[in-house]
Amino acid sequence: MAGNKRDHAVYELAAEDGSAVLTIATFNAQMNRLVGLKFMPADLTTHWEALSDLPDAVLEAAVTRAQKTRADFPTPVELRQDADQVKAHAFIVEPAEDRVVALAQPFTITVPEVGTVVSVTREWRYYADRCSDTGWASWWCGTVEDRRAPWMPISSCGRRGDHDAHEWVGQCACWESNPALVRKREAQRKYAEKPGRAA
Ligand SMILES: [Zn+2]
Ligand SMILES: [Zn+2]
Repeated sequence: MAGNKRDHAVYELAAEDGSAVLTIATFNAQMNRLVGLKFMPADLTTHWEALSDLPDAVLEAAVTRAQKTRADFPTPVELRQDADQVKAHAFIVEPAEDRVVALAQPFTITVPEVGTVVSVTREWRYYADRCSDTGWASWWCGTVEDRRAPWMPISSCGRRGDHDAHEWVGQCACWESNPALVRKREAQRKYAEKPGRAA
């Protein structure tokens, strides 16, 4: 079945050739950077299915562009347009060190919405669980906590004046020190220095 491979990629969090740097955690972190735009869909399955082939550096650059140019949460088509605009400027990261480890006790799960059963035999070890090595983390601003998720510590967003409680996304505390992010920046620096690339 055509969808099988992608469903596996979601849960194994790495493609067979090691090149799929975009994981569901990275994808969700990037989508969360758009949380301030209007009409964010509650279910991002369509976005994931339509965009999961993008290298994470391209998605990150596309999201940065969308933040600056859009008022409404972009559709997959619009995010692909953003990706096309920034592709030449995005830094493609070299394959990460293999952080996949075999599970002692493999198990199966049913993919929500899709209904496909996949077997989980390996997991990806993160340096930082807080942000899943994406460098981006969520906080909750406000005293009304009805929509606060367990992974969002309470912290003011810094915006002045009365406003409704909300989630906000910023750089994780591990941004400077996380080995995965250090390596990513080093790869970007080397890439940028290669002659003949668009700057
Ligand atoms: Zn972190
Ligand atoms: Zn706030």
